[in-house]
Amino acid sequence: MQRPFNFSAGPAALPEEVLSQVAAEMLNWHGSGMSVMEMSHRGPEFTSICETAEQDLRDLLQVPANFRILFMQGGGLAENAIVPMNLSSGGAVDMVVTGSWSTKSADEAKRYADVAIAASGDSSKFTRIPDPSTWALRKNAAYVHVCSNETIDGVEFHALPDLKALGCDAPLVIDCSSHQLSRGIDWAKVGLAFGGAQKNIGPAGLTLVFVRDDLLGRALPVCPSAFNYKTVAAAQSMYNTPPTFSIYVAGLVFQWLKQFNYAGKTGVAAIEQRNIDKANLLYGALDQSNLFENRVAADCRSRMNIPFYLRGDYNTPELNAAFLTGAKARNLLQLKGHKSVGGMRASIYNAMPLEGVQALVAYLKDFEAQHG
Ligand SMILES: *Cc1c(COP(=O)(O)O)cnc(C)c1O
Repeated sequence: MQRPFNFSAGPAALPEEVLSQVAAEMLNWHGSGMSVMEMSHRGPEFTSICETAEQDLRDLLQVPANFRILFMQGGGLAENAIVPMNLSSGGAVDMVVTGSWSTKSADEAKRYADVAIAASGDSSKFTRIPDPSTWALRKNAAYVHVCSNETIDGVEFHALPDLKALGCDAPLVIDCSSHQLSRGIDWAKVGLAFGGAQKNIGPAGLTLVFVRDDLLGRALPVCPSAFNYKTVAAAQSMYNTPPTFSIYVAGLVFQWLKQFNYAGKTGVAAIEQRNIDKANLLYGALDQSNLFENRVAADCRSRMNIPFYLRGDYNTPELNAAFLTGAKARNLLQLKGHKSVGGMRASIYNAMPLEGVQALVAYLKDFEAQHG
């Protein structure tokens, strides 16, 4: 039986092959007689799982040797505090606000640092990213924060800002929770990247942090030891018990991705190409529709999270509800928009096959034929 297509924004769909492998290995991992959930995080079995996962992730994203990869807990929201506690020294932090998540990051960082909003997409209702040439960056900023993919508003940085070219020496921090591993990362422009795993990598509970090693050792005294990047890095992410099962499943996703082929490409290049094709298909259908619309400026549209709305007079509670009920009947799950913005949202992360987007587009057309 084919599983439904799941458009959840997170926790989100995982590759079916990975779920099957997890099920097959649940009671007895590789002849060890143990479930991964039952293993000591310091034993040889889990050590090999964790080291392989980290190396595979490093290979996939071509993470430079001077970056540490940390497996942490607390999710993206905890990082909104952990980053300023580790990097701000209580001083100036410049934040670029492009939607709901960077707004939250700025509010949280204010508790630890002198936060200024360098630019905001507020006046466009977060349908476009302010051009970096207009950002008001301070000379003394400890770092500059952006959310490289806004999961709720559906805007994505298709190129990271080059702070050096803007005359700014501060490191760039990116919250890449909802598009990490959907494309490569231009590490030359980044000082620190973080993201919760549950959008595009694995189960909830795991947070990935990529930190340039010269940024370690700056934590405020108040920073909890378990959230001090230097402490966590020195302990190979084993300062305290890491989220072992989530790391294991994420590791299987990394192996799945390493072997992933599409359009003559392999790995991240292949998944990026498929993500481009999926996004083009869905935006194309929305732009041609007289019933539905996406409101984001074309060059800022997210490949991962695509909010869409019924147009004008069609945008009634009844027709929204009818759309979602009909979607579920067709095995298209979790298309309801975020409660703060309403409407619909299709999250089409790495695990979403092209067929899932084709099925959604077919439903959009049928719904329009019936109600348009
Ligand atoms: C989901 C999300 C978060 C919050 O993640 P939690 O794991 O729930 O704390 C932060 N930033 C972005 C961009 C997200 O998509």
